[in-house]
Amino acid sequence: MLTQKIQTLARINSDIIERIQTLRSSSQLHLKYDYIMSSVDGDDDTSYSFKVKETKALIPMTTFIDDWRVPSDCARPEDPDPEKTLYGEQKQIMVMTCEDFDDLVRLNQQERVAIKYTTMLRESASVKYGLKFLSNFRILNKLLYLLENIIRSFQQGEPSQLREINSNLDYINRQLAQFFRIYPISKKERPTPSHVIPVHHIRMNCYQCSRNAVYLYQNNAEPFRNDVHRSHGMSGVCVDHKYWADKISTWVYCGMNPQDTLDDSLIESFDLLSVRNHL
Ligand SMILES: [Zn+2]
Repeated sequence: MLTQKIQTLARINSDIIERIQTLRSSSQLHLKYDYIMSSVDGDDDTSYSFKVKETKALIPMTTFIDDWRVPSDCARPEDPDPEKTLYGEQKQIMVMTCEDFDDLVRLNQQERVAIKYTTMLRESASVKYGLKFLSNFRILNKLLYLLENIIRSFQQGEPSQLREINSNLDYINRQLAQFFRIYPISKKERPTPSHVIPVHHIRMNCYQCSRNAVYLYQNNAEPFRNDVHRSHGMSGVCVDHKYWADKISTWVYCGMNPQDTLDDSLIESFDLLSVRNHL
């Protein structure tokens, strides 16, 4: 009875395996979509959104079946004789690894060992092992059907999900835009607002070469030094030495010296209006 059940299941499994083998050796190709997300910077420094790109690839059936893995939440066959005292010559077939299609094929070959167990041992032992084997063949049957169904849907090809993805993403992007409108969040570091620059600090010489300073930095490394190069946490550098100041982490760029470059476009771009009002 038990033997018959095992044989029947193993035969059904062999039929599925044969169908999958035929498909594996076919030259069928499948259209597969991949989606890649990236972020998009808006024109101003507070707009930010996401976009998704769809790419298409043709995957051969062979690759698809070889790449398939038993899902982690599926039950796997368990060794009916963990001590392996009874397998003898059959040890190779009784390897219990169950990860891919080839493993399912090998596990179904355990039928031979299963029949031997359920017919040769005394009755109580044969029932004990037979039931364990039967349970394994049922698990194999589920996994093989699962794979076959996945292959069938693979053959039909998957539809593009781009429209659905974009419609969801549009919603997220609108929320994000709304978020940036509500909160004072900026994507990049802004120069320290220039109104913190006291007017008597604006005339400074380059920290490195003593020429007129054009760029102003907040520099907290030497807060009490007061001379033509430094004044109360402020430092200046010339055009040639801006690169030098930018490299030092304690120097924070905060705009241009409006005394040297007082034109409207610069005042606007560096928000130095408040500085000019102090002059
Ligand atoms: Zn200089």
